[in-house]
Amino acid sequence: MSVPGVDEQKSSNVLSDWHRSLAAAIRDPTELLNELQLDDFSDRVSSGAAEAFPLMVPRSFLARMRLGDPNDPLLRQVLPVDDELRAVAGFEADAVSDADFRTAPGLLHKYHGRALMIAAGSCAVNCRYCFRRHYPYGDEPRRLDDWEPALRQLREDSSISEVLLSGGDPLMLTDSRLGELIGRLEEIPHLRRLRIHTRLPIVLPDRVTDQLLDILTESRLTPIVVVHSNHAAEVVADCEAALRRLVRAGVTVLNQAVLLRGINDSVDALVELSESLINVGVMPYYLHQLDRVSGAAHFEVDPDVGRCLIAELRKRLPGYAVPRYVQEIAGEAHKTVIE
Ligand SMILES: *Cc1c(COP(=O)(O)O)cnc(C)c1O
Ligand code: SF4
Repeated sequence: MSVPGVDEQKSSNVLSDWHRSLAAAIRDPTELLNELQLDDFSDRVSSGAAEAFPLMVPRSFLARMRLGDPNDPLLRQVLPVDDELRAVAGFEADAVSDADFRTAPGLLHKYHGRALMIAAGSCAVNCRYCFRRHYPYGDEPRRLDDWEPALRQLREDSSISEVLLSGGDPLMLTDSRLGELIGRLEEIPHLRRLRIHTRLPIVLPDRVTDQLLDILTESRLTPIVVVHSNHAAEVVADCEAALRRLVRAGVTVLNQAVLLRGINDSVDALVELSESLINVGVMPYYLHQLDRVSGAAHFEVDPDVGRCLIAELRKRLPGYAVPRYVQEIAGEAHKTVIE
């Protein structure tokens, strides 16, 4: 697999720490099970699923999994299983109709005042339930110049005050690439905020470099980083430290989680997740009802169960620690709060 940015780094002969961590990520399911002392569970791995959407697990994320537990909540998010190959009615390739809102290469404009850029096509972890697992990233901009049509649209629409960098994972870009892209956005006077939707501080904490903190805090645009963690066991060790660094640098950090069967669909799991986050200054933002993407049906939790979970969270947590339980309904003007 080619890793964006690596060639650029190699040419200057310095592979940054996070690129080295990325290169060391586990891509072989057998190796993953072996590391976790789960060699006896090799029949749980689906080679067909792994072929359709490869396994990818950074060592830092692996280090937070429990040894010998085939049901570890972190492992279940990344292990390819046969359930993914089942076709289930209602589960589709483009679950949230992204294609209908693509107003320029790499640009999705669904909601008033904010537009989303598909800034990178890859991630450091492949979450099995990923709603963009079938997204045609190959069609999206790669070089800075490819962004010109999207930038032109942003320039011409003064109703847009916030740009979201998403993907894939936008922090798969090198700091210099990211800095250049943000530089172009800063030239657009009506833009005020820059939001980065990323899972890298969770799965590849080395990515939170000093240079990244500088880029975010020195920008004219107010930075908001939205991370993606689903379980308290993720928010420990180097991940916890990386989140603290972002928060201490003055960046607003929010979390979005996906409600996932067998992973975080219990009151205790969700309470612990919120507490781990608020303890480091990260605010729970959204709890997403699973987007119905093909291959992810086995992760779905009934919305009535989700509603009960949220009602219980309200009894156990400070108000600010209860995420909004939302669903993306194609064509709606905002994410829909499930009440
Ligand atoms: C979810 C999403 C957003 C952000 O929505 P918020 O409610 O502001 O967090 C923006 N653009 C697109 C295309 C989205 O899918
Ligand atoms: S980090 Fe996000 S975009 Fe990347 S695979 Fe996971 S869910 Fe998909």
